[in-house]
Amino acid sequence: MGSGGQGVHRLRRGIAVNALGHCHPKLVDALTTQANKLWHLSNVYTNEPALNLARELVSRTFADKVYFCSSGGEANEAAFKLARRWAFDNFGERKHKIISFKQGFHGRTLFTVSVGGQPKYSEGFGPVPGGIHHARFNDLDSVRELIDDDTCAVVVEPIQGEGGVTPATPEFLQGLRELCDRHQALLVVDEVQSGVGRSGKLYTYMHYGVIPDILTSAKALGGGFPIGAMLTTDRVAPSLAVGTHGSTYGGNALACAVGLAALTTIDTSEVLEGVERRHALFREHLDVINRKYGVFKEIRGMGLLIGAEMSDAYEGKARDILPLALEEGLMALVAGPNVLRMAPSLVIPEADIQEGMARLELAIERLVSASE
Ligand SMILES: *Cc1c(COP(=O)(O)O)cnc(C)c1O
Repeated sequence: MGSGGQGVHRLRRGIAVNALGHCHPKLVDALTTQANKLWHLSNVYTNEPALNLARELVSRTFADKVYFCSSGGEANEAAFKLARRWAFDNFGERKHKIISFKQGFHGRTLFTVSVGGQPKYSEGFGPVPGGIHHARFNDLDSVRELIDDDTCAVVVEPIQGEGGVTPATPEFLQGLRELCDRHQALLVVDEVQSGVGRSGKLYTYMHYGVIPDILTSAKALGGGFPIGAMLTTDRVAPSLAVGTHGSTYGGNALACAVGLAALTTIDTSEVLEGVERRHALFREHLDVINRKYGVFKEIRGMGLLIGAEMSDAYEGKARDILPLALEEGLMALVAGPNVLRMAPSLVIPEADIQEGMARLELAIERLVSASE
C-alpha cells in the first residue's frame, strides 16, 4: 500500500483493524521489544503482557475478568459458551435460549454464524446449534415477543457493522438491559468492530449508559496483530473455570504486548476527541458529495465507523463504487449491498480525509454518469 497521497489511498484500514494505521511506532516498539524477551508460554502459565493488558482492560471498563484468544469469532464463541454455562450452573439446562438480531454478525464458527442473523453465512453447514432466535434490531417489541425466563443471553452489536453500520438507539439498548434484568438473562455486547475507540469512546456501550454482562473485543485491540478478548464480571466469570474452555494462543505474549500499546495509545482524550473531529469532517464531505449527486439516502454511524446508505435511485449499487474508487486510488468497503462503509485509522491525517473524499467524489461522479 502506498504512503501519503501516493498510490492506493487508505480510507479503509484492514476492516476496522488497523486503528493506528500501519506500523505505528508505539506498536512496532511494543512488538519488537517483546519479541526480544518472550513470545509464548503454554497457557498453563500466564505472562506479564497478558496480566498488564487484562489489568488495563479491567480498570478502563465494567469488567472484572478477561479471557484472551486470537480473533473476534473466538471471543464470541467463548461469550456464548459462557452465557450457556452460567445459566446451566445457576438455573439448569432449560435456560439456554439465545436471542440475537437479524443482520447481526458475530464471526464464522458454526456457533457464531448461527447466532449471527445473516442466513447466507450458515447456509449449507447445518445442522446448526439450536435454541437461537433472531429478533429485529432496534425493535424492542420483537425482543419482548421472544424473551422469557428460559433465555440465557441477548447478544447485540451496539453498532451493527457488517449489517449496514446501524447504531442502536439509546431506548433499544437500555430496553434490552431492562428485559435481560427482568428475565435474569445476560446482556452480551459484541464490540469486535465497534470497540477500542472506533465510536469515539473506548467502547461503544459507554455512550449509552448501559452496562453489559459480557463484552467481546478484537480487531482494533491488536492494531493488526491477531488478538481477541472476552470481558465479564465476577458474577458470571466463575462458570468458565479452568478446564471448561481455553485456547492455546490465548494470552500470547506478543499479542498482548501489542494490544496493551494499542489500548493505551487509543484510550486517550487526544485520540478519542480526534475521532469525533474526523467524524464531523467525513460528514461534511459526504454531505457536500450528496448535495451534488443525491446518491445517499442516509449518512450514519458513530466516530470513525461511518455508513452511507444508497438512495432509492442507486439501490443495491454500493458495491459498484468499490472498483471505481480503487481506480481512483481509494480503498473503501461496503456493509451489505446498500451501504458504503468507511472505517479508517483513528489517527488518519485530516489532509488524507480531504484527499480520500476528493477521490470518492470522482468515483461517485463516474457511477452517476454511468447510470445516466
Ligand atoms: C469481524 C467481526 C467478528 C469476527 O471477528 P474475526 O476476528 O473475523 O473472527 C465478530 N463480530 C463482529 C461485530 C465483527 O465485526
